[in-house]
Amino acid sequence: MAHLLRGLAANGSIRVVAADTTDLVAEALQRHGTSLTAGAALGRTLTGALLLSHVLLENQRDRVTLRLDGGGPLGGVIADAGLDGSVRGYVRQPLTELPPRHDGKLDVGGAVGRDGEIEVIRSHAPYGDPYASSVRLHSGEIAEDLSGFLYASEQIPSAVLLGVAFEPGREARVRAAGGVVLQALPGAESGVLTLLEANVRAFGQFTERLAATSLLQAMEELTWGLELEVLTRDALPLAFRCRCSEDKALEALAYFSPGEREQMIREEGGAEVVCHWCGEARWLEPERIRALTRPELRCPECEALWYREGVTSMVRDGERCACGRPVELPA
Ligand SMILES: [Zn+2]
Ligand SMILES: [Zn+2]
Repeated sequence: MAHLLRGLAANGSIRVVAADTTDLVAEALQRHGTSLTAGAALGRTLTGALLLSHVLLENQRDRVTLRLDGGGPLGGVIADAGLDGSVRGYVRQPLTELPPRHDGKLDVGGAVGRDGEIEVIRSHAPYGDPYASSVRLHSGEIAEDLSGFLYASEQIPSAVLLGVAFEPGREARVRAAGGVVLQALPGAESGVLTLLEANVRAFGQFTERLAATSLLQAMEELTWGLELEVLTRDALPLAFRCRCSEDKALEALAYFSPGEREQMIREEGGAEVVCHWCGEARWLEPERIRALTRPELRCPECEALWYREGVTSMVRDGERCACGRPVELPA
């Protein structure tokens, strides 16, 4: 079962957050039907978002969204996680495959691309505006980029290890997935940091060690000589969990005009809505689609939805519609 452990080392001057995400990454890759390279990128990002939530969030209901887009063929990878241990995410082009790198590893950096940004959005439910910050991508390999983000945007010197290892063979069966963040807190002595760096170098591939030993053992090896103190008495369970529902799927259909919805019913006998976060497909019957009758306002030119009762993210007065017409909302 996927789980997360937190700890402190070197008299509280080093924070350690580590996660074994093998099961949930396997589920995510299966849900999205990813290639090996896209799966590695998604698995690293899901794990990174979970680790990040324990570095950046304080309230149980807050969420962190991690997004990387470097202009590569993946077209972007995104994950959303919370302190409750739930995470969801997707890649825009899940079938992307690239030749392996010279060292034989999957070319995640090439798939993500390096010309773009890593963005982190913190949302505070149920009030407050989301807070977004972003920095330039370094490598597209995700762990290095996350470390760059934590340093440049949060002034937290951190080492980040992330990995997804597949079973040998052509099938994308996940053997191990996980990661760790090691964070230097204010007051960390330089001797401590030197030892920590040496430990990280000697540790090797995170997933190799995870497949061979336990998460706790991996944390102990990374903090060798620094007296690890584990803070989580019970490991926090982690799971791939989406927040989609039939009601939300129905709301997605509201963006089509009543005429287009009738056409779907005529031609398909209903409508299938696929959640892009989790890949779940939902079939909606004609009577549910026809019950979409809440007050709404559409562009007189192109029928694009401008306003719909109960939906918050709508166009604003004075903005331009996709067709170019200035939006006019009734007062
Ligand atoms: Zn979903
Ligand atoms: Zn329009």
